[in-house]
Amino acid sequence: MSSPLVEVSAISRTYAMRSGMFGRAAAVHAVDGVSLTIARGQTLGLVGESGSGKSTTGRLVLGLEPPDRGAVRFDGKPMTALGTTAWRAQRARMQMIFQDPLGALDRRLPVATQIREPLDIHGIGTPAMRDDRVRELLRAVELTPAHGARYPGALSGGQRQRIVLARALATKPDFLVCDEPVSALDVSIQAQVVNLLCDLQAQLSLTLLFISHDLRVVRQISNVVAVMYLGRIVEIGSADDLFARPEHPYTQALVSASPAPGRRSAGRIVLSGDPPNPAARPAGCAFHPRCPRAIARCASEVPALSAVGGDRQVACHLVTGAATRDAA
Ligand code: SF4
Repeated sequence: MSSPLVEVSAISRTYAMRSGMFGRAAAVHAVDGVSLTIARGQTLGLVGESGSGKSTTGRLVLGLEPPDRGAVRFDGKPMTALGTTAWRAQRARMQMIFQDPLGALDRRLPVATQIREPLDIHGIGTPAMRDDRVRELLRAVELTPAHGARYPGALSGGQRQRIVLARALATKPDFLVCDEPVSALDVSIQAQVVNLLCDLQAQLSLTLLFISHDLRVVRQISNVVAVMYLGRIVEIGSADDLFARPEHPYTQALVSASPAPGRRSAGRIVLSGDPPNPAARPAGCAFHPRCPRAIARCASEVPALSAVGGDRQVACHLVTGAATRDAA
């Protein structure tokens, strides 16, 4: 079996957040001890509510900021320091796609110029080869070379996200971090862009970290799914198995709110309590104020992420192994 492309070992990132001009700074544990492995050619879906630390995890994995603790290895090598020549070479193999395609593009430049930009920055090919590559990329994302002459404002939301995708693919990366890449698009356009991403992944053997709060989309594209809550992974496992049989009470609530196509949403678990606030993480299991199954121990003791059978890991005091799974 080949080695994983991305190995994330216990990364953490804390920010100081001040409330008001004279308020005391509070530590926000945006990411706390997250470990992930992404096999080559696979998609790991990272899900959770807003404030769960998904996007910060994506930025740490991509090396856009360093973790306070822990390490990221890409293709067997540690991430190099930001801004160095070695980092730029590594970075050409790793790209990011953001939620807002209009914000990611320069409205003053034709989109062909923007697709070509990474080739110019990394000095890849002659000018004529770069122009050829731009036409090839436009076709790859199912647009025509004529679209290249347009400005972002003259394209639809779906076309703009295709341009962002074409630009991300310009340097022939191995790894894409997609941060809510379709959540700003209409539902019908979302499906087209996700299908295109799936096709390109298969054609180009891409490895993806796909960040989304939308389980419907994550279910469609992911091989493995990790669920985050207030900076920690609370459950991880094969996508089909996890969606068919979620173990963690938080995952169960998320899955119940996003039924599979053709399945009715009866039995939806509605969570009570406040949505997660990263600046005020509860002690013990951070989910305990909202958890319908919480016991006394949950308020004081952080549950470790532990193997519970198969490739599943769960962080819950009540889910402790194969016996628990079989009894459920
Ligand atoms: Fe709920 Fe306790 Fe499990 Fe946390 S550890 S998910 S509070 S039962």
